[in-house]
Amino acid sequence: MSELLSVHQALEAVLTRVQPLSAERVPLDQASERVLAEAARAVVDLPPFPSSAMDGFAVRAADTPGSLPVVERVAAGRPAPRALAAGEAMGIATGGVVPEGADAVVPIERATATGGRVDIPEATTAGANVRPRGGDVAGGAVVVAAGVRLGAAQIGALAAAGVGDVECSRRPRVAVLTTGTELRRPGEPLAPGEIYESNGPMLAALLGRAGAEVVPLESVEDEDAAHRAAIERGLEQDVLVTSGGVSVGPHDLVRRIEGELGVEEVFWGVSVKPGKPLAFGVRGKTLVFGLPGNPVSSLVCSVLFVLPALRALQGENDPAPGYRDGTLAGPVRPDSRRDELVRARLNSGGRLEPLSGRESHMIVRAAEANALIYLPAGEDEIPSGASVRYLAL
Ligand code: AMP
Ligand code: MG
Repeated sequence: MSELLSVHQALEAVLTRVQPLSAERVPLDQASERVLAEAARAVVDLPPFPSSAMDGFAVRAADTPGSLPVVERVAAGRPAPRALAAGEAMGIATGGVVPEGADAVVPIERATATGGRVDIPEATTAGANVRPRGGDVAGGAVVVAAGVRLGAAQIGALAAAGVGDVECSRRPRVAVLTTGTELRRPGEPLAPGEIYESNGPMLAALLGRAGAEVVPLESVEDEDAAHRAAIERGLEQDVLVTSGGVSVGPHDLVRRIEGELGVEEVFWGVSVKPGKPLAFGVRGKTLVFGLPGNPVSSLVCSVLFVLPALRALQGENDPAPGYRDGTLAGPVRPDSRRDELVRARLNSGGRLEPLSGRESHMIVRAAEANALIYLPAGEDEIPSGASVRYLAL
């Protein structure tokens, strides 16, 4: 292996090859976790009318304190029956339309109602407990900007502002192909020398949660024709992710066959642990990731490179991994030559406990992890309490 790219260089190389996908109209109830391709604007002022923040009495502030006749009741969901005249009060429910002429609502707890009148002992001020029309957002204003992934709060805001459907980037179609003669599907008995295939289900889960429409391909043995047929199918998608077969062994066929099928290799080899033999190429608009087969390498490389590519394909702002600052709960020794992603557990005190079992085949150990510490290459042990950067898993 010649020059290894740094993690940063490799990510740059991936992201510069991404061409964002086209957009499509999506009903709001199907838009959870989708990325807006266009800003979504409020259809109405929100609130659409001056509304009461409390159950109480709509009044003119200037008439308080005082004893006022209760001339009407305003229920939520109904227009105010008429304007309020000076010296009058109207009963009003939370969310009710504050009638014209009223400028404040006195909460029930601050008033005494008896026989058609209400006694208000304290002065109130204009605007008290009235939510002005458009106070949250004005009609036509941006509710959620382009490039934002829609979470629950955004979906709620859009619905409140009357937005029924939104323009979202198409979901990337991602073929996942696992390679290796030794692989068996979980649930089947293992013959000698075989192991269970775990990268396919893991990648489907990981990539699916990042918005991909995963196209699973049948796992292939280390044999030319099967590789060729499966890779050809995978290259029809927006992204092809393979696992295994990208090292230097005689059975590592993926890169050669992809080359024969017209994939231009952008890089092979990243200075990172685990995941060094990662390959990345393109054919036309299709992005082609060759993940190393070791399950933890596959996981780490996906988090570092495939997920950012999926975010960029969907036009998401800041597609790069979102590193956070954290504090080590125990000492950890870096690799002397390569930057390393160390599985860790973020404990309830907000500190990162590095997990034992750092080898790249130890996927069950990795399952305890909810964070990956980014440990730059170095000679000296990093002490407990040191500041580190990490990715939440
Ligand atoms: P490779 O990258 O093909 O040399 O594989 C490296 C190691 O990962 C080998 O021990 C493989 O058996 C293992 N491996 C490869 N693919 C998978 C997979 N899909 N699921 C579980 N282990 C795998
Ligand atoms: Mg293999």
